[in-house]
Amino acid sequence: MSVVREDFPTGLWMGARQRPACSGGTFDVHDPATERKVARVADATEEDALEALSLAVRAQERWAEVPPRRRSEVLMGVFDRVAERAEEFARVMTLEMGKPLAESRGEVAYGNEYFRWFAEEAVRWPGRYAGAPGGQGDILVTRVPVGPVLAITPWNFPLAMAARKIAPALAAGCPVIVKPAAETPLTLLLLGQVLVDALPEDCSGLVSILPTSDAAALSTALMRDPRLRKVTFTGSTTVGKLLVEQSAENLLRTSMELGGNAPFVVAQDADLDLVLDCAMQAKMRNGGEACIAANRFVVQESVAEEFTQRLTSRMEAVRWGNGMEEGVTLGPIITEGQRRRIADLVDQAVAEGARLTTGGCVPEGRGWFYPATVLADVPEGARILREEIFGPVATVTTFRDLDEAVARANDTPFGLAAYGFSRSLDTARYLARNLRAGMVGINRGAISNPAAPFGGVGHSGFGREGGTEGIEEYLDVRYVAL
Ligand code: NAD
Repeated sequence: MSVVREDFPTGLWMGARQRPACSGGTFDVHDPATERKVARVADATEEDALEALSLAVRAQERWAEVPPRRRSEVLMGVFDRVAERAEEFARVMTLEMGKPLAESRGEVAYGNEYFRWFAEEAVRWPGRYAGAPGGQGDILVTRVPVGPVLAITPWNFPLAMAARKIAPALAAGCPVIVKPAAETPLTLLLLGQVLVDALPEDCSGLVSILPTSDAAALSTALMRDPRLRKVTFTGSTTVGKLLVEQSAENLLRTSMELGGNAPFVVAQDADLDLVLDCAMQAKMRNGGEACIAANRFVVQESVAEEFTQRLTSRMEAVRWGNGMEEGVTLGPIITEGQRRRIADLVDQAVAEGARLTTGGCVPEGRGWFYPATVLADVPEGARILREEIFGPVATVTTFRDLDEAVARANDTPFGLAAYGFSRSLDTARYLARNLRAGMVGINRGAISNPAAPFGGVGHSGFGREGGTEGIEEYLDVRYVAL
């Protein structure tokens, strides 16, 4: 069944080579579909991290001498190499993360686009010139790289979440130390090989990749060192808040891509065929383990029953299983603990009065699977409406008028993505203006795009990845008075 070559890199990438951790320590990586151990990777310590930072500081000086056009070509070289090895990346990703192979292929293509996009942006740094209004000379506004970056990434999109950080950092002239999630280090260790092949030899140390079983120790050591100048983080709001607090000591630049609790508003005049297609995209992409996944379907009363029935049939058709198998459209949950958390959320919602229309029970056997699940009539205030589900579970609540829809949709401290559906231009504009989120999809269930700024407001964080905004996160503004 599984045809993954299991000779992928498992050491730390530092100074353009693979090496064991200073301590000699390792930790295990598991396949969530089989619970089988698939690799043992080097376990980086504080000592490794500080060495990586010293290498980064030296590499930045050399990278600064590389003209933007050449940097752009190097990033295009990364893009070409990842594209050539796309199938290898996809299989390693499915092995360690569990998503169906087709989705892994999709993520490789999507994540790799960040290398192409920022290759193009590398030669287009923003700047500005103006005459001083009072006539005292010229105002020149330019940009300089922020300096060494620590990038901490989650397990749900092992390649894309890191590509969004590595590509703009390099385009901006910054070295980067990447700390992948302990559940999924293999995809990034494979990317390390590609980066070493593509980056200039005398810039070794520009990118280090340091898996660790003790993320807090590693990030604390780096953030205490004044040579580090930026932390970019994708993960939970809880950890994000902690890192923001820690960043105060050395006043680091920070970008925080945190959790979400996306509403999906369906007005009664919406095209229900389109709504259902988009609902399945927004809910089930990555098995619901996505920060922009639709968490709360908020549907106008007159169409709520039809919507719920049709969503239930679509969810019943979802086939869960090992992502390596043909025809499987829902892989396992990443860990046993996450699966328990999802099952508890569903059980509690039912106890609070929600109506289960499909799914809702943990299957027996090996692998951390959970079926596609729909909960209708979820009572206001239920825990499942307040917390990010991060799994294949859809909740449905209803509304009478648009004011109530917006009030319900915005009843969360998160603000990453929101979705609105209507055939009326007025309703669409009303939703686009009033849904509180960094990203709003109107009659669209898939919104991610490397050319668009991805990011949130409120407890979903700050900073943007992708678009022309993405590179600014790695640049400081310098004003020159001439
Ligand atoms: P997590 O916060 O537990 O872990 C994310 C990363 O932080 C991992 O690499 C982990 O090892 C590291 N980490 C954990 N504790 C740390 C600490 N004390 N100090 C430093 N690093 C630490 O999140 P997760 O469970 O891996 O990912 C799921 C979360 O990520 C969800 O909330 C999801 O919404 C969010 N997410 C957000 C985006 C976005 O772009 N906004 C994208 C994907 C995922």
